[in-house]
Amino acid sequence: MNRNGRKIVIIGGGIAGLCAAVYALKCGYEVEVLEMHDMAGGLAMSWRRGPYTFETCLHWLVGSKPGGQFHAQWQEVCDIGKLTFVDPDMFVCIETESGDRLRIFTDVDRLEAELLDHAPRDAAAIRELTHSIRTLARFKMLDPSVGFSSNWLNVLRDLPVFPVLSKLSRISGSEYGSRFTDPLLKDFFSNGEMGKLSAIALVISLAWMSAGNAGYCIGGSQALIRLIEEEIAGLGGKIRFRARVERILVENDAAVGVELAGGETIKADWVVSAADGRSTIFELLQGKYADDAIRKTYEARELFASYLQVSLGVALDLGAQPSMLARILESPITVDPGTEVNSISFRFFHFDPTFAPPGRTAVTSTIPTRNFAYWTNLRENDLTGYRAEKNRLADTVIAVLEKVVPGIRPAIEVVDVSTPASVIRYTGNWKGTMEGWLIEPGAGFKHLPNTLPGLGKFLMVGQWVSPGGGLPSGPMTARPAIKAVCKHDHVLFNVHAGRKPELEAVGV
Ligand SMILES: Cc1cc2nc3c(=O)[nH]c(=O)nc-3n(C[C@H](O)[C@H](O)[C@H](O)COP(=O)(O)OP(=O)(O)OC[C@H]3O[C@@H](n4cnc5c(N)ncnc54)[C@H](O)[C@@H]3O)c2cc1C
Repeated sequence: MNRNGRKIVIIGGGIAGLCAAVYALKCGYEVEVLEMHDMAGGLAMSWRRGPYTFETCLHWLVGSKPGGQFHAQWQEVCDIGKLTFVDPDMFVCIETESGDRLRIFTDVDRLEAELLDHAPRDAAAIRELTHSIRTLARFKMLDPSVGFSSNWLNVLRDLPVFPVLSKLSRISGSEYGSRFTDPLLKDFFSNGEMGKLSAIALVISLAWMSAGNAGYCIGGSQALIRLIEEEIAGLGGKIRFRARVERILVENDAAVGVELAGGETIKADWVVSAADGRSTIFELLQGKYADDAIRKTYEARELFASYLQVSLGVALDLGAQPSMLARILESPITVDPGTEVNSISFRFFHFDPTFAPPGRTAVTSTIPTRNFAYWTNLRENDLTGYRAEKNRLADTVIAVLEKVVPGIRPAIEVVDVSTPASVIRYTGNWKGTMEGWLIEPGAGFKHLPNTLPGLGKFLMVGQWVSPGGGLPSGPMTARPAIKAVCKHDHVLFNVHAGRKPELEAVGV
């Protein structure tokens, strides 16, 4: 690659930081990614315990289908064709302890048939739901990095979609669920955290799945991360691990580099933060470039919850289980002070052969909580109590699992529990949130500004700029940020540089 003589330092090696690195390298910048952890990925993470790999992030990757919405953006940052995707036929199977069961199929026709069979009294609401899924499956999100002039064809094509989008964006999952009389169907939209989200978030995800464009890649989120790391290495970029940034250096209201824990300084022409938004603005920059609007956002806007994850390595082939099961409980479980849940979900990773040897299965259960402080305080001040709480929760989850798979307990050979304290320690995300800003009813997907008032040569990327988060928020926010850098520096924004000739030839 021809270098243009300018350097960009990127804080954070999660998906957004890595995508920003690829775009910047392709445009000829020297790039150094600084990651405080000893591996890349941030929330896009899995870990190994004995023969098992436990995934925390990936359920679906929007853009998995060649030619589908968002696939081209993934091709800009990695050779996504190298990944093997599977499209589960069922999103989730919901069942009660008394044996009532509802299967949420990913194929919309199968879903419609299942729902009508299960809840004929809700036929009108079911048909409206499947109509929305079919309509949204055709929707292509506008590209935020180009203006209206480049998006007008998309706008024309999407005109019939807008009324559905706008209706679903205005109401919460709970409100949407209230149109069904069937308790399981109601529960699917209203339960826990889902009920707080704008209804559009869930319905559009079902639409992407039904279009076969939200697959799971074998190897989980780290398979995607490793692919982007390969791209960075191929383009001559550098990722430095165990490099925690403590301060963004500013001269004359322009970022000029960073200071690492330990005092080392790294100079740069631009600083891009792909790290937690609150700590970037209020710690690394000491709040000096936060105006009232930013303060209000960080004080008032709601976040996705944090979570505990109970991961189990089971010496059994659990291939007969659905890939995801939500078990509705007869009596709620106390997670921590202030948090009770009335359902427990399990992911049976039998569909990913890289996660366990034959005859064994990795199983995870993610439990949302907003009481991150309980777990961080306990870990800091009472390690014995912290471990006891983790054991209590693991035991409770296993007791629920035993009712699903009788006799499973003796076959559990690995138990691992992560808490909001683990999420904060490993990713630095504020309150241990799993995806940053919640998409609240009425708020839409509109991005937050990626600059700070009065500060030059600085940009933000990632889930703190893109409400709703998700892996696609990586390329979606990195692209416009690096494009803006190029525009400022009069450098050609070239997303195809360094690509294999056959990809360039078809203009991918
Ligand atoms: C349980 C769960 C399920 C999910 N499911 C899906 C899914 O199915 N599909 C999907 O698309 N998305 C999913 N997501 C969301 C997705 O994982 C995130 O939205 C996305 O990974 C966020 O990426 P990011 O790069 O913006 O931030 P992060 O991943 O948080 O990356 C930030 C990085 O910055 C580093 N960092 C922080 N501070 C510093 C510092 N001072 N110095 C140096 N480095 C620093 C951190 O270590 C981290 O690596 C899920 C998330 C969770 C937790």
